[in-house]
Amino acid sequence: MEVKSIGVLTSGGDAPGMNAAVRAVVRAAIRKGIDVYGIYRGYNGLINGDVKKMEMRTVSDIIQKGGTILYTARCAEFRTKEGVEKGKQTCLKYGMDGVVVIGGDGSFEGAAVLSKAGIPCIGIPGTIDNDISCSEYTIGYDTAMNTALSMIDKIRDTAQSHDRCSIVEVMGRNAGYIALNTGIACGASYIIVPEISYDINNIIEKIKVSKKLGKQHFIILVAEGIGNIEDMSKVIEKSTGIETRATVLGHVQRGGSPTVRDRVIASQFGYRAVELLSEGIGNRVIGLKDNKTVDYDIKEGLAMKKEFDKEMFDISYNISF
Ligand code: ATP
Repeated sequence: MEVKSIGVLTSGGDAPGMNAAVRAVVRAAIRKGIDVYGIYRGYNGLINGDVKKMEMRTVSDIIQKGGTILYTARCAEFRTKEGVEKGKQTCLKYGMDGVVVIGGDGSFEGAAVLSKAGIPCIGIPGTIDNDISCSEYTIGYDTAMNTALSMIDKIRDTAQSHDRCSIVEVMGRNAGYIALNTGIACGASYIIVPEISYDINNIIEKIKVSKKLGKQHFIILVAEGIGNIEDMSKVIEKSTGIETRATVLGHVQRGGSPTVRDRVIASQFGYRAVELLSEGIGNRVIGLKDNKTVDYDIKEGLAMKKEFDKEMFDISYNISF
């Protein structure tokens, strides 16, 4: 089957680098003589027919921009049979022979369902959390970590000036990758991630030992979803006698201009997605393995397991006394 036209959408949480992926999809497709439609606000746009034809210049000046020019959303209706049917009808109306879905694992579930309904879809991992099991990397992860790091460095300045302990919560949605890496990079005394159990008494003990060794300020890095860090700071302050403050970094981690890594990988992923669709291949999710793009059947990709790097956790623990 000759592929004449495809669609592209962003879905789930936004991530810096999504625009670079959209740009790559649009340009790679047009270079192959394939028309491209931008689908707005995730699967909502597919259901409501909120689509616009994209040209080479529609994606000018976006590679450096955070967020997504296609907007993004969650769409409960697409979880229903009727919703998927409406989405399929929009594809047929515009003659879309395939759709590129940039988002997280929920978005890929939708892509698998739409593929099964007869519209080939390719998933591109786009989420700051790096929590897609079939890919070593997800678009937005590096930018989010660098944003978090620059803020933690500022918190460190004030923690140092006041001999304080700072507890900082970063994003990750049940995954500790952002916390682990930013924790190592900022020299955190302790990193709390969902993948490794922790005991507050061990943290308190470590702070006390480090204090005896001359350490005067402390950063505890906590992944989102662990618990209330205000409560934790009270416990630590009471047990160590060190003034302790809690900071939740929040949504600022989602924004900003994407880093080199995010722009490059987004471009590679976008290009690969178009290559697959142009060959009539669908129901695949793209991933990064040993720094090369690979692709898997969506369901198989979603079922894969990603090992948490315990060695990195141990390194952090031992070099932060
Ligand atoms: P993030 O990791 O950033 O949250 P995500 O892609 O995992 O991104 P979700 O909210 O889980 O975000 O999913 C995005 C959208 O994908 C949903 O709002 C829904 O429209 C669609 N979707 C999710 N699961 C399914 C499913 N089982 N069937 C059809 N569509 C689905």
